Amino acid sequence: MGMGKRDYYEVLGVPRQAGEDEIKKAYRQLALKFHPDRNPGDNAAEESFKEAAEAYEVLHDSQKRRLYDTYGHEGLQGAGYSGFSGFEDIFSSFGDIFQDFFSFGGFGGQSRQRTATRPGDDLIYSLNLTFEEAVFGTEKEVLLETLVKCGRCAGSGAEPGSRDAMCPVCHGSGQVVQAQGYFRISTSCARCQGTGKVLVAPCRECQGQGRVREKRLVQVKVPAGVDSGTRLRLRGEGESGYRGGVPGDLYVKIEVAPHQHLERDGDNIYCKVPITFVQAILGDKVQIPTLEGGKTISIAAGTQPGAVIRFPGEGVPKLRGYGRGDLFVEVEVKIPKNITPRQEELLRQFVEIEKEREGGKVRRWPLNRRKQNEKEAMPGTSQGRPS
Ligand SMILES: [Zn+2]
Ligand SMILES: [Zn+2]
Repeated sequence: MGMGKRDYYEVLGVPRQAGEDEIKKAYRQLALKFHPDRNPGDNAAEESFKEAAEAYEVLHDSQKRRLYDTYGHEGLQGAGYSGFSGFEDIFSSFGDIFQDFFSFGGFGGQSRQRTATRPGDDLIYSLNLTFEEAVFGTEKEVLLETLVKCGRCAGSGAEPGSRDAMCPVCHGSGQVVQAQGYFRISTSCARCQGTGKVLVAPCRECQGQGRVREKRLVQVKVPAGVDSGTRLRLRGEGESGYRGGVPGDLYVKIEVAPHQHLERDGDNIYCKVPITFVQAILGDKVQIPTLEGGKTISIAAGTQPGAVIRFPGEGVPKLRGYGRGDLFVEVEVKIPKNITPRQEELLRQFVEIEKEREGGKVRRWPLNRRKQNEKEAMPGTSQGRPS
């Protein structure tokens, strides 16, 4: 440092009589423009950033400014001021000023400062279940290939035994601020990933990530009553976080295989039971398939085809809430296609008896009467029409 330095007013681009606010504003613009985060590896920007910091350091301090105005650079040197040695120096000197410039102050800029980690991602796993497993619940072990906490560094990302150093870019705050027009947005420091610290020696196992890709077994407790499309959320069973950050969640998506005899709609179960027309007429006891394997039910005498028998509380346990849905059994009456001569003979006797019961009357079908009415009302036939 010494001769050949540019004039501080020239550096900031302000007139010699510039006020405090004008100087501050000018510096802020330059600091943002030449900020090391926005110009990584750019030495010229780095020099400009330092130069502007030095100019501001002098001009915003009335004592130093007076000294500089009167004696120039030499005057400051004579008073023992020697500028900055590096970024750390600048950031530590302007710590509070940078906060002034670079934070919303109340919009979370400060509170997020010590975000040392990043959360892990959520995972989705598709789990296939049998009909019964979905209805009654089960426990499954699923194998995931995911990011798990690194055992070597216990998730910190630092090689065991090594120490962290303060991040030279954000000076340990973990946050840098970018200006977008009128607004300034505080973002995580790219250099240290928002940790405020840089690893002197990253863990050899995970390269400083704090997590490694591995296969992991997860126990999944499936509650009774799940169905295709149900998503179970297992908190913290997703990917491990970056450098010990909170892990993501695991979402288990349920897919249920169909049942051979039973159908399901929500909490209700439906099945069909085939019976003969004789069973329908006389009544009988028949076996039906159920969730528990099967049971015997009574068919009442005179049961009609398509009749539905309801068994309350014999359906699927409710996933949310208590109790179970219902079981509905639909009666299907089968008509035999082939009968023996003896069966035919008996049926013909049955018909004879039916005729006797009706007293030999000829049945008047309601269908015939409707047809007649239609004929009467047909357009084009004036007959029978009121005129
Ligand atoms: Zn590690
Ligand atoms: Zn940083």
